Amino acid sequence: MNASSVLHRECPLCRRDNVREPILSSYSPTDWDLKQCPACGFVYLESIPDYAQTAQTLAWDHTFVAWHAERDRAPAQQVLSRIGRNIRLGTHLVRKRRRMDEMIAALAAPGPVLDVGCGKGSQLAKLPPQFIPYGIEISPGQAEIAQRMVASRGGAIRVTPGATGLHEFPPGFFTGIMMRSYLEHESRPREALEGAAQALAADGVLIIKVPNYGSVNRRLFGRRWCGFRFPDHMNYFTPATLARLCTECGLAVREFAWLDRLPTSDNMWLVAQRACRKPASLSAHVTNRAM
Ligand SMILES: [Zn+2]
Repeated sequence: MNASSVLHRECPLCRRDNVREPILSSYSPTDWDLKQCPACGFVYLESIPDYAQTAQTLAWDHTFVAWHAERDRAPAQQVLSRIGRNIRLGTHLVRKRRRMDEMIAALAAPGPVLDVGCGKGSQLAKLPPQFIPYGIEISPGQAEIAQRMVASRGGAIRVTPGATGLHEFPPGFFTGIMMRSYLEHESRPREALEGAAQALAADGVLIIKVPNYGSVNRRLFGRRWCGFRFPDHMNYFTPATLARLCTECGLAVREFAWLDRLPTSDNMWLVAQRACRKPASLSAHVTNRAM
């Protein structure tokens, strides 16, 4: 990869420039330096591929086979994989997870529903008929397949980065937005969540699923943890950093189950909605009284 296609990032959560801070050397491959922000604790890739590289050669459907081959190569890894599967199985026995389309059907009002990073549209295809499926997808080939499916239901797919496309819809357009295995891939997660906050209806819901960097499996597996995919995964959320970023982007956390916030969970599911804001006139009144 040439230097012009690699971008430098400030901390996506607090915007601190950590260029002089040390890398997390136990996890970082040579080309993709992982940093933990000393100000806010967020873990992220500091140098990242640009969107063109992400769309063409680093999309998950291109890197899936190589990732599994490397992860399963070592015998010790196979033992650890069995331990990790047992931990996940124990969690699932406590609570059966609903699918994303089932959660939308239960929580969102009928109307337009957006899948950010929709791929070939398999998740949109499962939505019940009261929803009009829309998607954002950075890969033109996958978007073309998804477009054929959603067009018959009155929806559309936009070929653009999520952080850009979310700002192109009218305010309050969607009753539901899905971000499943998307936000960890997005180089501008703050802009993406701000876009979701403006595109959601007043009673709309945003459902997020991301890997949990705070999981015990990350400590157990080290660099071979299933949540590490370099450079596909650029953001590594813990329960605290995910909730903080949502709140700072104009969202209110509606559901964040305690089981998802435990270290036994490799993944986190969070349901958010638009935060209530005081009318400008009321805010001015309160400010004047305080003075
Ligand atoms: Zn930070």
